[in-house]
Amino acid sequence: MIPFSPPRIDQRNIDAVTETLKSGWITTGPKTKLFEQKINDYVGAKKTICLNSATAGLELMLRWFGVGPGDEVIVPAYTYSSTGNVVLHCGARLILVDAQEDFNVSPEAIKRAITENTKAVMPVDLGGYPVDYEEILAILNSERVSSLFKANTKEQELLGRPLLLSDSAHAFGAEYSGQRVGSISDAHCFSFHAVKNLSTAEGGCICLNLPSSFDHDEVYRYLTIYSLHGQTKDALAKTQKGNWRYDIIEAGYKCNMTDIAAALGLVELDRYDSETLPRRREIMMAYDQAFSANDWAICPPIENENKISSYHLYMLRIRGVSEEQRDQIIQEIFEREVSVNVHFQPLPLFTAYQSRGFNMDDYPVAFQNYQGEISLPVYYDLNPNMQSQVIQAVVDSVEQVLKR
Ligand SMILES: *Cc1c(COP(=O)(O)O)cnc(C)c1O
Repeated sequence: MIPFSPPRIDQRNIDAVTETLKSGWITTGPKTKLFEQKINDYVGAKKTICLNSATAGLELMLRWFGVGPGDEVIVPAYTYSSTGNVVLHCGARLILVDAQEDFNVSPEAIKRAITENTKAVMPVDLGGYPVDYEEILAILNSERVSSLFKANTKEQELLGRPLLLSDSAHAFGAEYSGQRVGSISDAHCFSFHAVKNLSTAEGGCICLNLPSSFDHDEVYRYLTIYSLHGQTKDALAKTQKGNWRYDIIEAGYKCNMTDIAAALGLVELDRYDSETLPRRREIMMAYDQAFSANDWAICPPIENENKISSYHLYMLRIRGVSEEQRDQIIQEIFEREVSVNVHFQPLPLFTAYQSRGFNMDDYPVAFQNYQGEISLPVYYDLNPNMQSQVIQAVVDSVEQVLKR
């Protein structure tokens, strides 16, 4: 069976983890701090904090900004549940908006959804393809939006408009207008989950790019404390002589990154541009080459004049098929010993969102994108022979189902 997205684990990762285990320091410490600095340099952010997931980062940022009951947060209907769930955790009102043809959120739909209660907008760089940042920023910075905005906290007052909080879980290494994703929105959250391009098993980070009126060191300090119970000193600081006493300044969360995870991340970051991205790009280009001549294939957006994907997901769409036909094609592909996936089932298809009143009929483009979607294997160790098997399995399966 060809797996969908196994992590790349070789002797280098194993040695890095072993070295960390033997170092005597396994939780948040020097490796995490070094990883933060290297990510920050890589994406060109103002400040980066590592956590145990992207989801934790999204929720911490909403809470840092004071988002709660009575507030609205705009999220694409076409995303992973993480993006929607964190809004609900905060007790805010989730406002789902429709997608556009490239899978990403429609800036027009965001514009229409903004009200005087909007506190944050959370676009998702789907599959690693950057959203329309220029259009979204223009909307958020418009006179209409800032005059609608009601500030309830000192952070909200300082920003003067809704927070642009990107779920960039897929987009590490992607570029928009010559800038790395991670340096554009007020905050971007990346995921280092096992299936993502750069994996630390579980992990994530927040990259901050707030306006210069914010003190980024202070925001960083706050988020660090907030991610560790609200405790003023981390475990490493407490090991220093006479430094045992600490305070809890708020009932914080527990979502810090471990040095074991950071050790994996440091290896992966070191070979990200030289090995990971080129290999993933090569695989995607080979899929494009194989499928683009077929009438039934809609190849996913990967690059254009001002966007470069991080090549995270190859989101193929089969033109004109129903959801049932797509499911049959997937079944056929699996029978040919190839694992594929669907990214994503739009949120209104799930019980938790339907019970909150969301209806799939209100998001026709998201449904359209979903009903023919099949994500194909993309990972470092997928060799050309394996890729040929994937391509053959897809072509045979599609043709078989379409002639039924
Ligand atoms: C993976 C993923 C997340 C969550 O990342 P974690 O690090 O697992 O929290 C969020 N959003 C999207 C779109 C994802 O694919």
